[in-house]
Amino acid sequence: MSEVNIPFLDLKTPHRELSSEILAAWKALLESAEFIGGVQVAEFEKAFAAFTGCRHCVGMNSGTDALRIALEAMELPRGGEVVTAANTFIATTEAITQAGGTPVLVDVDPITGTMDPERLRRAITPKTEVIVPVHLYGQPADLNPILELAREHKARVLEDAAQAHGAEYHGARAGSIGEAAAFSFYPGKNLGACGDAGAIVTNDAKVAATARMLGDHGQSKKYHHEMEGYNARLDALQAAALSIKLKHLDAWTEQRRAVAVRYREGLQGSGVAVPLEAAGRKHVYHLFVIRHPKRDAIRSDLLENGIQTGLHYPVPLHLQKPYRKMGLSRGSFPESERWAEHGLSLPMFPGLTDDQIGRVCEVIKNMRLEPAGYGDE
Ligand SMILES: *Cc1c(COP(=O)(O)O)cnc(C)c1O
Repeated sequence: MSEVNIPFLDLKTPHRELSSEILAAWKALLESAEFIGGVQVAEFEKAFAAFTGCRHCVGMNSGTDALRIALEAMELPRGGEVVTAANTFIATTEAITQAGGTPVLVDVDPITGTMDPERLRRAITPKTEVIVPVHLYGQPADLNPILELAREHKARVLEDAAQAHGAEYHGARAGSIGEAAAFSFYPGKNLGACGDAGAIVTNDAKVAATARMLGDHGQSKKYHHEMEGYNARLDALQAAALSIKLKHLDAWTEQRRAVAVRYREGLQGSGVAVPLEAAGRKHVYHLFVIRHPKRDAIRSDLLENGIQTGLHYPVPLHLQKPYRKMGLSRGSFPESERWAEHGLSLPMFPGLTDDQIGRVCEVIKNMRLEPAGYGDE
């Protein structure tokens, strides 16, 4: 194995470029000692609400707690069923369980990897309370049929937008379409903090106010508690860094989209299936996941050439240990299983150069792979 010279993700360069601005903001915070709440948190919440096109943003300490607290603020009844996709990060279902709900999994669309509305239709029961579409890899799930099913069955929609900052669905930004949405600012996300952070956005004033109380020990004012809550507040140091980075997010998104265009050109005729932007959707390429049955061979050839890749995710949720009790064996969700077995996340970050993209494509092309054969490549 050679030394890695094209990383999967470069987190160092943007922080080097922004370090004096971030350090100045942090120095001011050391002087004001306003570490909890305060101006930095309020300003970031206002800016991120505007970014998503939502009336309210409540800063949280992580995307996972944003999901859990949003579900609780939406008054998910104990044991209520919450339907989500089998091909996602476990945080989505952890939050459902932690909020007192019962996770129900459905398979994904073969081309986009997001929740398949037809499979959702079949999974809905009288106990379905909430639907959580995940905007996986940075592409919004197909929300119109999902919203229609939700209306039909009096269910509610919480968007898991942890990977989709700035993505759009028919012109509306991810996070502004469901009743509420959860974002993650984990460092590797398209907008990342310098540590853990997250947020809930919503147009519903009541959901926002309840979420804010729940994240702050159920307090309506200091030491007056409406309910038991959590300590899940957004940290002021993180808020300050996030406000600085948010100003660059649209430019970073355009760079990610340009990288995707170059990959698509460079991989034409290579045999691998490349991610597509579905009609009416703006993909923000948190990840660029190609697919091919020889995924493992591609991954090791790339690594031998100093190119790092990732797997998102190698095991779909229904086959993970905590969910064995669902009784869903291999073969239950063929599309999610195929994404897990054939999906390979190529290096993707703003600033990936044409030369680097060219080298990745060249290594794959040199493998002379048979066409993946899914019918969409
Ligand atoms: C990252 C992520 C989360 C969780 O966010 P954290 O900030 O890491 O807690 C939830 N859902 C999805 C789809 C994610 O990618």
